[in-house]
Amino acid sequence: MDFGLSDEERAIRDTARDFITREVMPLEQELLRRERAHQPGLEPSELRELQLKARKFGFWGLATPQEYGGMDLPAVVQSLIWTEIGRSFVPFRFGGEADNILFHATDEQRKEFLLPTIEGERNSCFAITEPGAGSDAANIRFSARRDGDDWILNGEKTFITGGNEADFAIVIAVTDPERGARDGGATAFLVDRAMGWRSEFIPTMGEGGPASLIFDDVRVPHRNILGEVGQGFALAMQWIGKGRYTIPSHAVGIAERALRMAIDHANTRETFGSKIGTNQAIQWMIADSETELEAARWLILRAAWTVDAGLDPRHASSMAKLYGAGMVNRVVDRVMQIHGGMGYTRELPIERWYRQVRLYRIFEGTDEMQRLIISRDLLRGYTKLGGHLG
Ligand SMILES: Cc1cc2nc3c(=O)[nH]c(=O)nc-3n(C[C@H](O)[C@H](O)[C@H](O)COP(=O)(O)OP(=O)(O)OC[C@H]3O[C@@H](n4cnc5c(N)ncnc54)[C@H](O)[C@@H]3O)c2cc1C
Repeated sequence: MDFGLSDEERAIRDTARDFITREVMPLEQELLRRERAHQPGLEPSELRELQLKARKFGFWGLATPQEYGGMDLPAVVQSLIWTEIGRSFVPFRFGGEADNILFHATDEQRKEFLLPTIEGERNSCFAITEPGAGSDAANIRFSARRDGDDWILNGEKTFITGGNEADFAIVIAVTDPERGARDGGATAFLVDRAMGWRSEFIPTMGEGGPASLIFDDVRVPHRNILGEVGQGFALAMQWIGKGRYTIPSHAVGIAERALRMAIDHANTRETFGSKIGTNQAIQWMIADSETELEAARWLILRAAWTVDAGLDPRHASSMAKLYGAGMVNRVVDRVMQIHGGMGYTRELPIERWYRQVRLYRIFEGTDEMQRLIISRDLLRGYTKLGGHLG
């Protein structure tokens, strides 16, 4: 058994680390200053500039096939890079990406939606959640009714990441109310904002915020269906699958950086005449954090490896998402505790992480949904104890 990285994997990981350290981290203090002044931390133009700079280093489209100019990296390497991105709290991501399901586009849709998204000229968002259907995604009511060569879309989507900035939305709608969404009753549509939907900002405890998308008799041509009629739910599950290892990979980067800060603080801050790191209470918080961090790292890498090996990744990915999201919340909480009052201030990024990572236990499948999947797989015999080792 080999837990190491190949030379190539290490080289790619190290280049990403260099880029984040040299180009992204220097923006951190200014980001905190702007956010304290209730301004956007990173302007879209600044993100784009960083992404184009990274492109010169060869970092463009981590998951994008090479025929579209991307790197088409294995999931394990993508996971390692998401961990590097997580080390900085600047909301950076590499450019050249598109939602994984956009690659099901027709030739015409490729030109109109996929290629401009990869190039960063258009912004997309993905919308399945509704006010009445979150965890129970198959319960969506947002409707699409056929009218000649068009479909008429009505309803509301909510909590949509990027919904305020998107030029177009990938919307999952009920096209056959007689069938359940899961049984071919739902379809994915590509809908330009110019076709008539509007978005409303939703304030949250995080920086920035998602949006509600409101559709009131929005007419969409049949050619804007992504994939097949009735394939919408399957596409939605494919979209969600990606985040199940990238989100916890990001969490590992956050937890590592935060724990580093806690170790440095424990080695310098003095109370009662000695460093706080000499107290067992502090040592245990550091030990527990490192242990959980390491456990999360390997669960996530195994989930990513499962994707690369062509095995069904769902069980492993649910465990990675569940444990990684919980781990980063526990670690950031301890790091705040080790910093005392300073941890609670907006001088440091700790309270920002505290607010940010709480989301990781909620979106793209709550903790409870991951537990439901993991236990169901075992109770119904879909997977066996012991994982791929048997
Ligand atoms: C900031 C943010 C960004 C998001 N981005 C997107 C996006 O881009 N696109 C999109 O479509 N959606 C997005 N979402 C929606 C997100 O995926 C949902 O909020 C999430 O799936 C939970 O659904 P819900 O909020 O309706 O909670 P509910 O489903 O109402 O659940 C409420 C609580 O009950 C628990 N629960 C529900 N059913 C069960 C059960 N059977 N057993 C045990 N416990 C249960 C849940 O785990 C949760 O704790 C986003 C949400 C947020 C907050």
